[in-house]
Amino acid sequence: MPAPFHSSANALFDTEVRQVRRLSPGFLRITLTGAHLNRFAAHGLDQRIKILVPAGPYPAAFADEQLHESEWRRRWRDLPAADRPALRSYTTSAVRPDQREVDLDFYVHARPGPASAWAVSARAGQRLLVSGPSSRLSENRHGIQWSPGVATRVLLAGDETAFPAIRGIVSAMHPLVRATIFLEAGDPMDAAWLTRDLQSHAVTVHRRGSTDEGSALLRPVEVWSRGAGAGASAMGDDFYAWLATESSQVAQLRDLLHRTGITPERVHAQGYWNDRARDAPTGSGT
Ligand SMILES: Cc1cc2nc3c(=O)[nH]c(=O)nc-3n(C[C@H](O)[C@H](O)[C@H](O)COP(=O)(O)OP(=O)(O)OC[C@H]3O[C@@H](n4cnc5c(N)ncnc54)[C@H](O)[C@@H]3O)c2cc1C
Repeated sequence: MPAPFHSSANALFDTEVRQVRRLSPGFLRITLTGAHLNRFAAHGLDQRIKILVPAGPYPAAFADEQLHESEWRRRWRDLPAADRPALRSYTTSAVRPDQREVDLDFYVHARPGPASAWAVSARAGQRLLVSGPSSRLSENRHGIQWSPGVATRVLLAGDETAFPAIRGIVSAMHPLVRATIFLEAGDPMDAAWLTRDLQSHAVTVHRRGSTDEGSALLRPVEVWSRGAGAGASAMGDDFYAWLATESSQVAQLRDLLHRTGITPERVHAQGYWNDRARDAPTGSGT
């Protein structure tokens, strides 16, 4: 049996923080630099990467440069649980191979976990290991979920954690594609930097109360499903939906669309985070 992740195009990049900028009250843009980032593939869209959040100095197991994903994960699993960096998924906000730079946009959760806490305390010179697509390994677009095919009508819905991906997707959209976009934000200022880039589409921002992260999208998606769902279903391959927010919420959004008759192949629904007590120590996570 092949090793897990054997077909991954990801390698481990050893980076350090070059700059931290506050985009809005809840968002930090962190620019990373690294000797090998000239090999970081700039696919854009909703490109997923993994960060290995340091709990202290990185274990020596990660000292080698450019480890393939199947190898760094094997070494990660072999570490005692207490020594494992926490693994978290992020989206590349910008990739500049010629300058050996990658930008990540971190939304800082109201109750910060290890990644949010790392971003808040990040300072120039701090080290961060990043597993991302290496142009040396493969041209395949590993970690990209956006797959609309021929669709000219699309629905996008997400909370703050999905804003970098939505920005990447919309910036690459064909001008004839029309998007309906529902954004959930606790603070409208956190959506303002994004909505500026989405002006040619139907964008609405849905404000969340203080206690219910991930739930403000239910109402607009329900209303949309009642009014436009059957029509979208009849469009077949001409329609595509991409949904990303808290995992239990995104399942409810997906079900709303399926009940209109939109087939599962025309909907990508992904939990971007879990709002539940994690009983494992912070060294866990995939
Ligand atoms: C493909 C993909 C791409 C992503 N891209 C981005 C991106 O570009 N930018 C971005 O900001 N995020 C992105 N995310 C989301 C990001 O991975 C999550 O928000 C991540 O969980 C944050 O890690 P954390 O360590 O800060 O918080 P976590 O530890 O993962 O916790 C997240 C939240 O869950 C709740 N929680 C967790 N543990 C407990 C507990 N014990 N008790 C109570 N509540 C708890 C809290 O609300 C907490 O704030 C992406 C996710 C995926 C899957």
